[in-house]
Amino acid sequence: MADPISLKSIAELGALLEAKAISAVELAQAVIARTQAVEGRVHAFNSRDESGALAAAAASDARRAAGQARGPLDGIPVGLKDVIAAAGQPLTASSRMLANFVSPYDATVTARLKEAGAVLWGRLNCDEFAMGSSTENSAFGPTANPWDLARVPGGSSGGSAAALAAGEACATLGSDTGGSIRQPAALCGVVGLKPTYGLVSRYGLIAFASSLDQIGPFARTVEDAATVLGAIAGHDPLDSTSFHAEVPDYRAELKRRTGPWRLGIPKEYFGEGLDPAVGAAVEQAIAYYRAQGCEIKPVSLPHTPYCLDTYYIIATAEASSNLARFDGVRYGHRSKFATDAVDLYFKSRAEGFGAEVKRRIILGTYVLSSGYYDAYYLRAQKVRTLIRQDFLNAYREVDALLTPTSPVPAFKLGEKSDPLALYLCDIYTIGVNLAGLPAVSVPCGFTPGGLPIGLQLIGQPFQEANLLAIAQAYERGHDWVLRRPALD
Ligand code: GLN
Repeated sequence: MADPISLKSIAELGALLEAKAISAVELAQAVIARTQAVEGRVHAFNSRDESGALAAAAASDARRAAGQARGPLDGIPVGLKDVIAAAGQPLTASSRMLANFVSPYDATVTARLKEAGAVLWGRLNCDEFAMGSSTENSAFGPTANPWDLARVPGGSSGGSAAALAAGEACATLGSDTGGSIRQPAALCGVVGLKPTYGLVSRYGLIAFASSLDQIGPFARTVEDAATVLGAIAGHDPLDSTSFHAEVPDYRAELKRRTGPWRLGIPKEYFGEGLDPAVGAAVEQAIAYYRAQGCEIKPVSLPHTPYCLDTYYIIATAEASSNLARFDGVRYGHRSKFATDAVDLYFKSRAEGFGAEVKRRIILGTYVLSSGYYDAYYLRAQKVRTLIRQDFLNAYREVDALLTPTSPVPAFKLGEKSDPLALYLCDIYTIGVNLAGLPAVSVPCGFTPGGLPIGLQLIGQPFQEANLLAIAQAYERGHDWVLRRPALD
């Protein structure tokens, strides 16, 4: 059976729109119809704006008719993780705290997508305040993995990955603090890119851990990811960590950069806890690159064993500070039972936040407290420097690193109840955030049970063009991205 139109790539849809074989309104209607057919089972969205999407699509058609189409995203339906602000739309972070909050303004990425003509059409479910690896921490209920509805889509951007895999959007945005784009991309069989820290503005992103957070795209193909990245990347005076980097035409660069590449295989990323099917698929990917003439080098990132501890000190410390603003006064939930001001803070936060968010605030407050700051937070910052140095040392010899994205494929909903078991999902992704590097997850096969597997490629700072070209070299030789979950 032919794919529903909403399962086509942006590149294919762009050609159809260009040729006037379809209109943007027809495409938006197709995405809406597909979503109505599958969303009851997938639950990828927290909210949807069908009339807004149809109006934006009609405007796109009018531009095209006037010969003023704005480029490859004009008329393409895109979904946003529910931590990225869009004016007039709900912005909940999948939390009771913000259940009724409507954003008064656009995030920079949102404004840029609108300028590119994208049809923004829904807000995607995630773990509460992006804390988690399974989307089960959402206050609005979990999202299901389209490949097996009894399993998680990964997290925290699980809705962004699942909506794309299910054909409920043609591209989506997520945020990645410790793996939240790459891990769900791997578990849902789509491409997910975490850009270099500073390449994409976080203005209008609800902050989790500000020294780690990055916004990035989910897409069906590497080329589509390059298209979306091109639209959202670049300096923004509204984000003080935004880098003054030249933004190349990533799609054009894909054609120019052909390798062969030098790829490093970090031995610390193939140890205990790696699912055999995942390991085998990644080994086959390595063999493929070698057969294509790439140089494959074993490398070592010796501080890898410290990544998880370092991350959970820094991320929780920053989260405890960032989430202090949710006090029942200015934003979001306000307790009806408070007797005085202090009681208002206590009760609003107790009622508004879920268990995992509270756990992180408590841990983060502890590691920042007087007497413990030097022992935990300061020491974690020093180890972080060593972790980054490991990567930079490896890059003296190789162009990129190749690892599994997640040690395991999608697990069952409810299967991992112990927080530490979930934290271990991030062992291959968090080092990248601590080091501020770009990394992409590309589909690289399926388990014998039919669950997607992701390959992670980690690039040099601001070398997204190389990274995407390396990823595409693999994608071209395989048809994984053409497979579809059996939702029909
Ligand atoms: N799973 C990690 C965490 O729970 C990463 C989350 C993220 O990248 N937002 O913190």
